[in-house]
Amino acid sequence: MGKQQTIQTTCPYCGVGCGVLATPQADGTVSIEGDSNHPANLGRLCSKGSALGETVDHGNRLLHPQIDGKRVPWDEALNTVSRKFNDIIAKHGPNAIGFYVSGQILTEDYYTANKLMKGFIGSANIDTNSRLCMSSAVAGYKRAFGSDSVPCSYEDLEQADLLVITGSNLAWCHPVIFQRIRQAKEDRPEMKVVVIDPRTTATCDLADLHLPLRPGSDASLFNGLLNYLKQEDYLDLDFLELHTEGFSAALKAAKTSAGNIPQVSAVTDLPEQDIIKFYQLFASTEKVITLYSQGVNQSTSGTDKSNSIINCHLATGRLGKPAMGPFSMTGQPNAMGGREVGGLSNQLAAHMEITNPEHHDRVSRFWETDRLATENGAKAVDLFNDVGEGKIKAVWIMATNPVVSLPDADKVKAALEQCELVVVSECESNTDTTELADILLPAAAWGEKDGTVTNSERRISHQRQFLTAPGEARPDWWIITQVARKMGFEKAFPFEKPVDVFREHARLSAFENNGSRDFDLSGLAEISDEAYEKLAPIQWPVSDNAPAGTARLFTDYQFFTPNGKARMVPIEPKLPENKTSDDYPLVLNTGRIRDQWHTMTRTGRAVRLNAHIPEPMVQIHPVDAQNWGLVDGALAQVSSKLGKMIVRVVITDEQRPGSVFVPIHWSNQSASLARVDALVAAVVDPISGQPESKHTPVKIRPYQPVWHGFILSRHPISVRDANYWVKVRGGQFWRYEIAGEQEIQHPDVWAQKHLGTNGEWLDFIDKKAGRYRAGIIVGNRLEGVVFVSPDHDLPARSWLSQLFTSPSLTDEERYSLLVGQPGKGQKDCGTTVCSCFGVGENTLKEAIAVGKLKSVDEIGDKLNAGTNCGSCIPELKKLLGQ
Ligand code: SF4
Repeated sequence: MGKQQTIQTTCPYCGVGCGVLATPQADGTVSIEGDSNHPANLGRLCSKGSALGETVDHGNRLLHPQIDGKRVPWDEALNTVSRKFNDIIAKHGPNAIGFYVSGQILTEDYYTANKLMKGFIGSANIDTNSRLCMSSAVAGYKRAFGSDSVPCSYEDLEQADLLVITGSNLAWCHPVIFQRIRQAKEDRPEMKVVVIDPRTTATCDLADLHLPLRPGSDASLFNGLLNYLKQEDYLDLDFLELHTEGFSAALKAAKTSAGNIPQVSAVTDLPEQDIIKFYQLFASTEKVITLYSQGVNQSTSGTDKSNSIINCHLATGRLGKPAMGPFSMTGQPNAMGGREVGGLSNQLAAHMEITNPEHHDRVSRFWETDRLATENGAKAVDLFNDVGEGKIKAVWIMATNPVVSLPDADKVKAALEQCELVVVSECESNTDTTELADILLPAAAWGEKDGTVTNSERRISHQRQFLTAPGEARPDWWIITQVARKMGFEKAFPFEKPVDVFREHARLSAFENNGSRDFDLSGLAEISDEAYEKLAPIQWPVSDNAPAGTARLFTDYQFFTPNGKARMVPIEPKLPENKTSDDYPLVLNTGRIRDQWHTMTRTGRAVRLNAHIPEPMVQIHPVDAQNWGLVDGALAQVSSKLGKMIVRVVITDEQRPGSVFVPIHWSNQSASLARVDALVAAVVDPISGQPESKHTPVKIRPYQPVWHGFILSRHPISVRDANYWVKVRGGQFWRYEIAGEQEIQHPDVWAQKHLGTNGEWLDFIDKKAGRYRAGIIVGNRLEGVVFVSPDHDLPARSWLSQLFTSPSLTDEERYSLLVGQPGKGQKDCGTTVCSCFGVGENTLKEAIAVGKLKSVDEIGDKLNAGTNCGSCIPELKKLLGQ
């Protein structure tokens, strides 16, 4: 591979599945651009995708296999895993083994893992972290359509006349789709957008109507809509008659629970006139898409919520045609690929069912196995419960961090601590989960491996290799194949390269299909090595009838149910399982932020992505903040019945009173006490098994340490004597936000313990006031700074950060360090708003005020902000509004 060769690949983050052009450079860096030929993004990338080139360094990579912390050769590691698995199976049966995999792995990895577990170990105890993100949507589609089929395409979103976005902060979680919708709305201002979300998020920037409903009341809102459509005569009676069943029961349930607008208003806490406005818009617009995501799915009634949405589309015949349908956006890059191969414990492979005898027989014959699992396995939460109870004695975790991301995360940690055998395949050497591994297997990362992923619109894209994997890291499909062979299943795992796996996967999808199953890759079943290498993005099904793929499903209104009719499901809305109480009066909602991905193992490497929201935080409404004595920018302790965390307070009226929002991204590697899932109860939807991550009762109080501070250091350090710490990678420095409950007796000695004594120390101490400021300078270059104060009122980090880029500190800069504020000619640019061009809030505010800027375009002309990925445009608009 030539060093300057540009490779077409796919972004490893969200379910949009953007095409990326990656060009490795001679200096080891990688330049990144959006692929204008990829239909998902047409050249766009968001802040995370744009920064991919900054995440390919090898720091903190797991480079070699390890057993009990000691490096071993691959052969020894693989022999040990396979021998121990076989021993446990012989002693306790196949259900004593569990696999927990991830929407981050490629379809070829997923297929191999699923085949080994279900087909040859003979248990269905394989589940995936996608369970946490979209399993309710899967269950909803299957109930309605008889198949897990996302009917629409991204282009439908652009062509819709009404887009209902519910339970999704699309602007931050699927930014490129949001940008496409923004463009479509600019081109066709008559296009309407309704956002249904308890919070006022960046997505509301496009909303003609925002419905900040009571958390968890979505099904009542959509039941009310179904009832309204009937009352106001907007049903498609022909469609209902010919292509659906169950309408009467669904309507009856809707009438009972949401029979009139006041009733809907009482449950949803929305003004009646806004509900009517939404219903009228939906009723009178033919081209409607309802787009939904985790806000709907992550609920103890997530499956019902998704069916309440689908019911409204079926009742109006609005699917199977351009610009209409119920569209579930997936969170992860290959959640859909996982669904295709049966990565969930209640699926077989190629959209078949474990408990369907015909499917079981077919897959057994195809795989030539008599060991195929006969019953569904444990879903994610249950799987780790089984680990904790000792039913599962060995667990293999691949490319995911359940100690951070599963609900009741401390229980998961405890389960792994006492598990007989924990095998972890990972790219990273230090995660909260690798710390508990008995055997560590180094996995190849994005850019180092090759295979396919499927995005939210069923589009399969090739993720190609353009870097050599460091150390002994290997692709996941290879690792699984070696273990399978060593376990005695050589014949069933002949794979030598990813295309061998892909061909088998495609053949299985085609095997005895003949149009009976939606997932059909018969057109790719005999794909050559060369064609696979060149495979262009394509939407399944791919068959003789659709050799170029399929943009839209159900165009013939034939569904995959026994009678070919779609099913309407009667929905009895249920409010969240765990209710607030006097002790825990607030609702905790969790989710993603704009510039980070999952537990930050990759995005945390990109300096510019850390600058937007550097610390774990809780967003709270001003009234609640006042009630609980919280101060903006200070620290708070949030606790539930299960756990507690310490986070920075952000007071905002964008938060609904009575509920708080905390992001999911921080782990024990990046903060002292900020794993939000340690607070979240492991209550799940009874059908989908998806946890209720949006509704945990919590309480909040100010966290009042004796001192607050921060350290910026050119080199990573170990923080001492701090009860609160957060570690953030900056440009040429590491930033540590710290606070402690014990007074620091000798701040100068304490500072030197952190930053060393070799250098020139400038410091200022005011013992009485409890203030300390210091800087260490080596060769007239700043090596580190320490600031301590009795309160959280500390100098701007953005200004001090800039001093690390100075090759030689001026006298003015030295003086400013001592007085703790920018000197003449120095500016504090403020918190980063535009990550692509590093433009800070203060710079923007000044430019808007002084330059009298009135629009995002004018800001772009002046400062470039908002002109690359566009992810910051809602925030720019907010600043303009201020
Ligand atoms: S929207 Fe951003 S994170 Fe998602 S796939 Fe595209 S570039 Fe990656």
